[in-house]
Amino acid sequence: MLSLYVDGERWRSHLRTTYDALPGIVPVAKGNGYGFGLGRLARRAGWLGADTLAVGTYGELAEVSSRFDGDLLVLTPWRPFVDEQYGDAVRDRRVIHTVGRLEDLQALMARGDRPRVVLERLTSMLRHGLSARDLRTAVAAWAEHGGCRLEGVSLHLPLAQGSHLSEVERLMTDVVAAGMPAKRVWVSHLDDTELAALRAAYPDFEIRPRVGTRLWLGDRDALSVRATVLDAHAVERGDEYGYRGRTAPRNGTILVVSGGTAHGIGLEAPTGPSDLRSRAASLAKGGLDAAGFVRSPYLIDSKQRLFAEPPHMQASMLFLPAGSRVPDIGEEVDVRVRFTATSFDRTVVS
Ligand SMILES: *Cc1c(COP(=O)(O)O)cnc(C)c1O
Repeated sequence: MLSLYVDGERWRSHLRTTYDALPGIVPVAKGNGYGFGLGRLARRAGWLGADTLAVGTYGELAEVSSRFDGDLLVLTPWRPFVDEQYGDAVRDRRVIHTVGRLEDLQALMARGDRPRVVLERLTSMLRHGLSARDLRTAVAAWAEHGGCRLEGVSLHLPLAQGSHLSEVERLMTDVVAAGMPAKRVWVSHLDDTELAALRAAYPDFEIRPRVGTRLWLGDRDALSVRATVLDAHAVERGDEYGYRGRTAPRNGTILVVSGGTAHGIGLEAPTGPSDLRSRAASLAKGGLDAAGFVRSPYLIDSKQRLFAEPPHMQASMLFLPAGSRVPDIGEEVDVRVRFTATSFDRTVVS
């Protein structure tokens, strides 16, 4: 079993502190729910008092809509095909659509039910959004035809490499030039200083920071991930094991632990230098990296252990060299994972 243990009191206190420090915050719940699951995050967002929850895709609405009472901002831009793919969920009055193309705005304005929309301005990310000129055209078209409720402008910024301020400044100039009637800007990845600067420079705009990682995963010490030891087999140098009939490079133990590709457990970089000469030198010394072993995310007695072979679907085989302590069957060992890419068998909140 691959388990996520949450120190509930510590986690909730981090959520509360972060929420209170970020006025206007829109919690983001998407993908695997940052490891916690979308439903749990939706309930937590309500508990925090959020008026709006952001989801990544239309498909995620179903998992959060009954667990959160407020508005639901969909981050992936609306496209004509989603109305057909997701039916009624797309027409829910609580849903706020992100619009990144002029033709999509036209289609939503013509839909007849006054959908709520946020116009996304393309940033240096070049993921989705309108150019400066298309933003002006969009606002002008809206002023002329109406047909939807404008809820502001969205800016999705890259993860910080230095300050975002000069880029935000340029983008805000476009927003102002477009004559945006809804004075609300939904932003991501601005730090506290940048948010304060933005608010000071544009006091007539409401700033809504969309925050996922910093909120849900901002206190890693509140979280731990552990896998159960399922089996252990003593091997001698030369013994065969595994799917591909490899041979043990030394005496030791093949340790079978829970967690595999189905959980998102992946290979890590090979240990040590990988060029041929240093590998040959390592081979001469009998190093395990020379045997082609790759570092695993499993830690036993605080030491990162090597995969005996690539992870299987639900279990992984590790190689423990002779002399290491062999954990008992049923014992739990620490695992380092990327929370956004891992499915846990269970989540235990204390
Ligand atoms: C995922 C996402 C966020 C939140 O990102 P974090 O790094 O998890 O805080 C904000 N805005 C958009 C558009 C996103 O896709």
